Amino acid sequence: MTGPAGERVNAPTLEVVGAGPSGLSAALAARAAGARATVYEKRPDVGMRFHGDFQGLENWTSDTDVLDELAGVGIDANFDCRPVYEFVCFDPGGRAHGVRSGRPIFYLVRRGSDAGTLDQGLKAQALQAGVEIHFSERRRRLEAGGIVAEGPHRADAIAAGYQFETDMADGCYGAMSEALAPGGYSYLLVDRGRGTIATCMFADFHNERQYVERTVAFFRRTVGLQWRDPRRFGGSGNFHRVATASVGDHLYVGEAPGFQDGLFGFGLRYALLSGYLAGRGGGSPEAYDRAWRARLAGLNAVSLVNRRLFEVLGDRGRRFVIRRAVAGGDPRVLLQRIYAPAAWKLAVARWLPSRPLLGHADPVQGCECTWCRCHRDATASAPERRRSGA
Ligand SMILES: Cc1cc2nc3c(=O)[nH]c(=O)nc-3n(C[C@H](O)[C@H](O)[C@H](O)COP(=O)(O)OP(=O)(O)OC[C@H]3O[C@@H](n4cnc5c(N)ncnc54)[C@H](O)[C@@H]3O)c2cc1C
Repeated sequence: MTGPAGERVNAPTLEVVGAGPSGLSAALAARAAGARATVYEKRPDVGMRFHGDFQGLENWTSDTDVLDELAGVGIDANFDCRPVYEFVCFDPGGRAHGVRSGRPIFYLVRRGSDAGTLDQGLKAQALQAGVEIHFSERRRRLEAGGIVAEGPHRADAIAAGYQFETDMADGCYGAMSEALAPGGYSYLLVDRGRGTIATCMFADFHNERQYVERTVAFFRRTVGLQWRDPRRFGGSGNFHRVATASVGDHLYVGEAPGFQDGLFGFGLRYALLSGYLAGRGGGSPEAYDRAWRARLAGLNAVSLVNRRLFEVLGDRGRRFVIRRAVAGGDPRVLLQRIYAPAAWKLAVARWLPSRPLLGHADPVQGCECTWCRCHRDATASAPERRRSGA
């Protein structure tokens, strides 16, 4: 027997902390499995960690198109979403390389609280499915267990830049250089009169502003960046090997346990899939454990080994690799190869550090910086605390 919204009468309620992509995906999966779902979100609406900035939903870690994979787990692309087949990559020597694929390399989506964002699309689907969302309600505990989808707890990398309006033609550009983005890359994304420019850094966070301004100057010089009404934005991400994603009857999804792409920070696909895997099992830790290990653990491990390799290469090595890679053809195929679960990478990854799961951590009151470790855990080593200035 089912209730008005399709749930089984007396169906258990799955509680979820956080209405980001991972939390909403978990709630949608729980509803599809016949359970009730209640989501608690500490802010007044979805997407408020973001500012209308563009993000890329990557389409290279599996052969299945990411939108087909999402459709298969019950998530529709009811948000603004543009396939990107080509982009321009600047190597550390400043040389531009145009790359093109026969299939979308990634899909451009917007994050934030405005109409058309990924966040509002997921919210609409969740409400339509009968998920209850309680806004402006911060949860510190889930008495009966449930799903923790709180987003990143600490900053292993940051992205900072500007969101703006522009008359520039649509285009996607990336630049790899230690002078613009230590350990990472800078990007400029323009679509239908809106633009996002940012530097994604893995070190030297204290000099964030300097790298952002260098990135702006770089894209002004190379592609004629123009903007109106620039607004600053920034955020952080967690990167480490996920050894466990549940504590008792609390299941951690998305960035909360560290599901992220260690190489470039494309965490969205992890968030949506880990949420689905936790939600469809109705909150069972055993089912979730089996599912994320099968679908996400190898990817997480390989991406972290890729990061180590990227760091070892430095600017000179990256310039060499990019020049060789561009000559090698389709960038999507190349990325697929880089992210493939090679046995040697999986073996090396076992030696990479993992971290314990954190309890519900609060940011330091009043702190708005993107680089500090307000969400730092008490278990960070002394050298780690000194490096972060915590
Ligand atoms: C600037 C920037 C650019 C990025 N670009 C890309 C990109 O191009 N491609 C890509 O794939 N990924 C990108 N990422 C990463 C991607 O945004 C994240 O991996 C993804 O948002 C993680 O989703 P999540 O649901 O785990 O967490 P979040 O999106 O952070 O959602 C967590 C939610 O939980 C709420 N919350 C937290 N604590 C509580 C509490 N105690 N009670 C109630 N609610 C709570 C928060 O308010 C938030 O709404 C980027 C990240 C940043 C910061």
